[in-house]
Amino acid sequence: MCYNIVYGRQHKCGCFIGMSTEKRDCNSPHCLFSTSHPPTCRSRGCDSMMNVPKQVPIRVSPINCPDCARDKGERARINALKDAWRAKGTPPSTPAPAQGVQSWSG
Ligand SMILES: [Zn+2]
Ligand SMILES: [Zn+2]
Ligand SMILES: [Zn+2]
Repeated sequence: MCYNIVYGRQHKCGCFIGMSTEKRDCNSPHCLFSTSHPPTCRSRGCDSMMNVPKQVPIRVSPINCPDCARDKGERARINALKDAWRAKGTPPSTPAPAQGVQSWSG
């Protein structure tokens, strides 16, 4: 069974960002992806699936990937807003009480 080798960068968040892919040929004549497989073969018994790609980190990044960094930034922003609301005692989920509203008479 052939598989791809993906070279890439391993981030601190655990995400793997592929940078280049290389096909590893299993050289089996019964694998549709192999160069040893005869192009004229119509057998249904041959492997028509590739194996799971193998991820090879050629670089290790000490920071989160852009996606996770953005998510984290967004979360930090929301947490800061929540803290501000908590400090004020007026969470935005409950409508602010109407104060100082007087009805006109006459
Ligand atoms: Zn193969
Ligand atoms: Zn075949
Ligand atoms: Zn990530």
